[in-house]
Amino acid sequence: MFKSVLLPIDLSQESSWKEAIPVAKNMAKDSGAKLHVLTVIPDYGMAVVGSFFPADYATNALAETEKMLTEFLSKHFGGDVNVEGHVKHGTIYKEIIHSADDLNCDLIVLASHRPETKDYLLGPNAARVARHAKQSVFVVRNK
Ligand code: ADP
Repeated sequence: MFKSVLLPIDLSQESSWKEAIPVAKNMAKDSGAKLHVLTVIPDYGMAVVGSFFPADYATNALAETEKMLTEFLSKHFGGDVNVEGHVKHGTIYKEIIHSADDLNCDLIVLASHRPETKDYLLGPNAARVARHAKQSVFVVRNK
């Protein structure tokens, strides 16, 4: 049914992947789809904040996060699903939406929010992705 599934995760936030991984894996397996796992290093937001970081911050952070994602994928995914990792830097929801387009994904699977923000039912990034992505979005509801 789906050819290519995008699973955006925050490596440092277990709630963004613990329940979403099994769902994304099963949906990819059932469809014989490729699974793309994306993690975004957030932008500073304001230029003045960025000026406090060293110039090579983004390059170093990308290299370090790529290593972490490779380890994460080998720990959480076996050979039963075709998985590829991607690291991007920028505004989280925009990078998710652009990556879904660039990777020709036809489904985005994401966890709804962190436990601390449960009153909102959908976190800010999840809400924006659900509202603006061209692809179908499957929201895994965190309790
Ligand atoms: P909250 O503010 O409660 O964490 P978010 O909307 O930011 O809510 O998180 C919901 C989902 O957005 C996460 O489960 C994940 O799929 C995606 N997401 C959040 N942060 C990142 C990130 N840094 N990289 C990739 N995806 C992310």
